[in-house]
Amino acid sequence: MNSFYPLLHKQRTFFNANHTLVLENRKQLLTALKTNIEKKEAKILSALQQDFKKSPFEGFVTEISILYLEIDHHLKNLNRWSRPKRVRSSLLNFPSSEYIYKQPYGSVLIIAPWNYPFLLAIRPLIAAIAAGNTVVLKPSELTPYTALILEELIRETFQSEWVTTVLGDADVTTKLLENKFDKIFFTGSTQVGKIIYQSAAKHLTPVVLELGGKSPCVITESANLELAAKRIVFGKFVNAGQTCIAPDFIWIAKKSKPKFIALLQQYILDFYGSDIQNNTDYPRIINAKNFNRLIRYLQPEQIIFGGVHDVKELYIAPTILDNVNWQDPVMQEEIFGPVLPIVTYDDLEEVILYNQQNAKPLAFYMFSGEIEKAKKFMDKLQFGGGCINDVLSHIINLRVPFGGFGESGMGNYNGKFSFDAFSHSKTIVHRKNWLDLKMKYPPYQNKLTFI
Ligand code: NAD
Repeated sequence: MNSFYPLLHKQRTFFNANHTLVLENRKQLLTALKTNIEKKEAKILSALQQDFKKSPFEGFVTEISILYLEIDHHLKNLNRWSRPKRVRSSLLNFPSSEYIYKQPYGSVLIIAPWNYPFLLAIRPLIAAIAAGNTVVLKPSELTPYTALILEELIRETFQSEWVTTVLGDADVTTKLLENKFDKIFFTGSTQVGKIIYQSAAKHLTPVVLELGGKSPCVITESANLELAAKRIVFGKFVNAGQTCIAPDFIWIAKKSKPKFIALLQQYILDFYGSDIQNNTDYPRIINAKNFNRLIRYLQPEQIIFGGVHDVKELYIAPTILDNVNWQDPVMQEEIFGPVLPIVTYDDLEEVILYNQQNAKPLAFYMFSGEIEKAKKFMDKLQFGGGCINDVLSHIINLRVPFGGFGESGMGNYNGKFSFDAFSHSKTIVHRKNWLDLKMKYPPYQNKLTFI
C-alpha cells in the first residue's frame, strides 16, 4: 500500500457500484469532454506553444481535431460496440445461444508521452471512458503547461472517482505502478515500455504498449520523386521530427539519390523559408537532454543541408545527412528529431534482410510507381503499420488499428480497436433446457464406438 492507495480504492469502490456500466453516463461524459476541449482550445494551443513552440495550426491539426473525430465516432457507435454480440452456436453445445459480452476492465492507468502531449493522453482516455473503466491519467512531466491544462480539463469534466490526473515524473509513475491496475495503456519509449511491462507482470495486469523505433522509408527507382520529397519533408519535420511514426531514415535506389536530395532541400525551403529559426511554424526540441542527444548525430562531414543549431533556443534546423554508416549512432538509435540520414541500396533484398535482423519498426514506408510490387514487398516485412507513397497517414483512419510490432509495441487502438483495447471480451453460452443428450455424461462404457 502507498500514497496512491486511497485514490485507487475510491475509484475501485465507484466502479464496483456499477456507475460506469450505464451507457448514458459514459455518453454524457464523452459529450462533456468534447465541449470542454472546445471551450479550452485556445488555452490548450497556448500551452503547446509554451511547452515547445508548437504553432497553433499544427497544435490544432495534430493534437485536437483528431480527438473531436474520435469522440464523435465513439458516441455514434457506442451502443453497437457495447451490445452483446450473438455468434453462431457450436453444434457441440446444441441447443444453445452464444454471445460475446464487452466488459470494462475496471481501473485503468494511462501513461502519456510528451511529443503529442494532449492527443496521446486524451485519445486513449476517450476509449477507456467509452468502455466503462475508471482512469488514472499520468501526463508527461516534460510538457508541464500541457500537463496543467490536462489536469484542469479532467478535474472540470469528471468526478475524481471516475477519472483523475496524477502529475509527476518517473518516480511518481513508479509509485503508481506498485498498485494493481486492471489494464495499463502506455505510450512512450521502448526502454521505459520494458519497465512498465515488468511492473504490470507483478500483478498480471494486461498492457497495451505503444512504443517507438526506427521507421525506414524506402524509395524505389519508379517512385514519383517530387511527391515523395514533398510528403516526406512534411512527415519528417512536422513537430520538428519528434513524431513516433516519422520516417527515421531514407533508403533510396542509388540512381535516384542526387535528384531526390535536391528535391528535399527545395521542399524544406518552400515549407519553412530560409530563416527557419524565426519561423513560428517550426517547433523546438523538447529539452536540453534531447537536444544534446540529437546534436551528437550532426557530424560535419555528413551534413549536406541544415545542421544549424542553437542550444539557448533548443533549435535544430531540418537537417539532411549523407554518407552515413550503418554503425553510426544515427543509424543505430531512434532519431526522434529533425535529422534525416540517407542511405542507398543496390537490391531490395537488403531491406528484407535488415527487417529480419533488426527491431521491428513502428512504421514502414515505401514510395514506388509499381504498386502491386510494392504491396507484395510490404507484405513480406514485419512492422506496426505504414503507407505506400505517403508517410504518417495510416494513423488517421478510425477504422484501422494503430500499434507496434515486437520492440515497437504490443496491442493497438483507434476507433473500435480502442474500445476493444479497454474491454474484456467475455463469452456466455446459454444452454437450452429442452434437450440434454446423454452422450457426454459418464458412464462412458462403449460410447467411443459411436463416434
Ligand atoms: P518516455 O518513455 O521517456 O516517457 C513516457 C512516459 O513514461 C512519461 O509519462 C514519463 O513520465 C514516464 N516514464 C519515464 N521514465 C519512466 C520510468 N523509469 N518508470 C516509469 N515511468 C517512466 O517517452 P517520451 O520521451 O515521453 O516519448 C518519446 C518516445 O515515445 C519515443 O520513443 C516515441 O517513439 C515513443 N512514442 C510512441 C508513440 C506510439 O504511438 N507508438 C507515440 C508517441 C511517442
